[in-house]
Amino acid sequence: MATGLLIAAASTSTIMAADNDFNYVVDRFADIEVLRYKVPDFENLPLNQKLLIYHLNEAALAGRDILWDQNNKYNLALRTMLENVYRNFSGDKNSKEFKAFEKYLKQVWFANGIHHHYSMDKFTPEFSETFLREQVAKLPKDKQPANTDTLMSVIFDPAFMPKKVNQAEGQDLILTSATNIYEGVTQPEVEAYYAAMKDTTDLTPISYGLNTRKVKVNGKVVEQPYKIGGLYSDAISRIVNELKEASQYAENPAQKAYMDKLIEFYTTGDLKTFDEYSILWADETNARVDFINGFIESYDDPLGMTGSWESIVNFKNNEASSRTEKLSANAQWFEDHSPINPAFRKDKVKGVSAKVITAAILAGDSYPATPIGINLPNANWIRASHGSKSVTLENITQAYDEASHGNGFNEEFVIDAETGKLLDDYLFITDNLHTDLHECLGHGSGKILPGVDPDALKAHGSTLEEARADLFALYYLADPKLIELGLLDNPDAYKAEYYKYILNGLMTQLMRIEPGKDVEEAHMRNRKLISEWAYEHGKDANVIEYVKNNGKTYIRINDYPALRKLFGELLGEIQRIKSEGDYEAGRDLVEKYAVKVDPAIHKEVLDRYAHLNIAPYKGFVNPVYSLVKDSNGNITDVTISYEEGYVPQMLRYSSDYSPLTD
Ligand code: ZN
Repeated sequence: MATGLLIAAASTSTIMAADNDFNYVVDRFADIEVLRYKVPDFENLPLNQKLLIYHLNEAALAGRDILWDQNNKYNLALRTMLENVYRNFSGDKNSKEFKAFEKYLKQVWFANGIHHHYSMDKFTPEFSETFLREQVAKLPKDKQPANTDTLMSVIFDPAFMPKKVNQAEGQDLILTSATNIYEGVTQPEVEAYYAAMKDTTDLTPISYGLNTRKVKVNGKVVEQPYKIGGLYSDAISRIVNELKEASQYAENPAQKAYMDKLIEFYTTGDLKTFDEYSILWADETNARVDFINGFIESYDDPLGMTGSWESIVNFKNNEASSRTEKLSANAQWFEDHSPINPAFRKDKVKGVSAKVITAAILAGDSYPATPIGINLPNANWIRASHGSKSVTLENITQAYDEASHGNGFNEEFVIDAETGKLLDDYLFITDNLHTDLHECLGHGSGKILPGVDPDALKAHGSTLEEARADLFALYYLADPKLIELGLLDNPDAYKAEYYKYILNGLMTQLMRIEPGKDVEEAHMRNRKLISEWAYEHGKDANVIEYVKNNGKTYIRINDYPALRKLFGELLGEIQRIKSEGDYEAGRDLVEKYAVKVDPAIHKEVLDRYAHLNIAPYKGFVNPVYSLVKDSNGNITDVTISYEEGYVPQMLRYSSDYSPLTD
């Protein structure tokens, strides 16, 4: 599962020299910092690979509107209206109202819609409805939306569609979620619909509901597929056209085969075809260039079934990949030594391919906020029988790291200089290794017992799955095997990641939560679950300690080996929950450790962060790729430039890649 493993706090390595020539920070507004990333080595790729990437990039950008519409049915109309006002505005651009309007638009762009990408809460505008109505009235008649009143309540009525995805136990998660994946149906109706359709004896089930919107027709639940001729047809046609262009430059027949299969899937919407594509894709590991493009992750579906559209185009970082290849080559050793009930281990871990990649473009649900590691395909049976591809996006982690130098985080939150030094020396490498382990071994490890529904953990499935992968990574980071493999050079290095993880899970990630709110997002819940559980279960032995110093709270880890043991124990339990589909036990863990926030520590974290001016969330603008032609019109090169800013990029994407708006 692609992890939105967004680095929570800054990592603070000084291993790499700061790069002063490259301006990583592009924009800063609200709780967001926009960065840019480098694409090292693109210039050195052969022309065919550059052209392959170029067309895959175009296919990636062509799908942008799909995600916007999936996120909320008003998003596209609202974006068009806001952008028209923004372009048309002729008043004082330094006025308070305009500044607030611009900030709101930047937030909406960043979130691909009206709800915060992480907290899922609707944005609160700081400009007046009067201001916006006046601006809309100044637009040419043909640019004024027909449904202005509705759009105004979408923006200004806090009670209308307040939450993109609601995860609150005991409520109808569909009726209370504002996503456009469901319309006019209730949670019990949708659950009954799929329960009737699912055959639990099917060993190769399709990913039910992955590419459909669920609506009610004549009192019955009906699925509307996303495909050519179906929903999002214009965007999907454009994606398919670019994929066809790209497939001419496929590096080998196996790569061409999966590209053609993806085109077939987009054309038919048939989920069996999607599984065939996933298998072809997972099996192809020789090409340098690779990509995902489709309905992949289901975090934005309250029931965890429908995929949000996304795309990432990338090519292999050959040097750094030797790291993940070592892990991957030893996958069976890690599986056999995993601290779980042997009945839940895989007898044979198949083809976990792992590599370090350089992202060339981020799109859909991976833009501007992006994961730093991806492990696909998601279908459990395909992972079990064909393995999965796991990647770490190192040019992205590097950009995070570079941009965070000297931001004051360590000085404020890390308990002492010795621990700070440990983080300086080892956090960058252990963070990357954590991602490698999480993606290339963690998600792929363990098995579900026969007859157990892969969706048995329902709304808590994502949190528990992320916890399982994180625990696997944490447990093995401290294993002497990593030294033996030459991946770490110091047996204490793992402590850097342990310290940061617990500090983040218990305290610093709370900077992303508004006062009085619960933790909602799956990755944040997972980190809190692990940290709080380890704190409580290590309490008698004082494994983790809260220390007060000059009125500030710090975390001290007194016994790292004991902490590792606790991680192993919790991994065993969460693997059992997944293998047996023990919904109640999973729900209890999440409800007890992952959701509720201590208001005192929360307030303290927010106050201390406020002084640092570190943005809680980061995302990226993409580079711009251009074709170079000679005087005969032949393409001679593809160039890359890093100059484009955040606002120009968003406006350009809306005018050039917007097949679903008029
Ligand atoms: Zn993950």
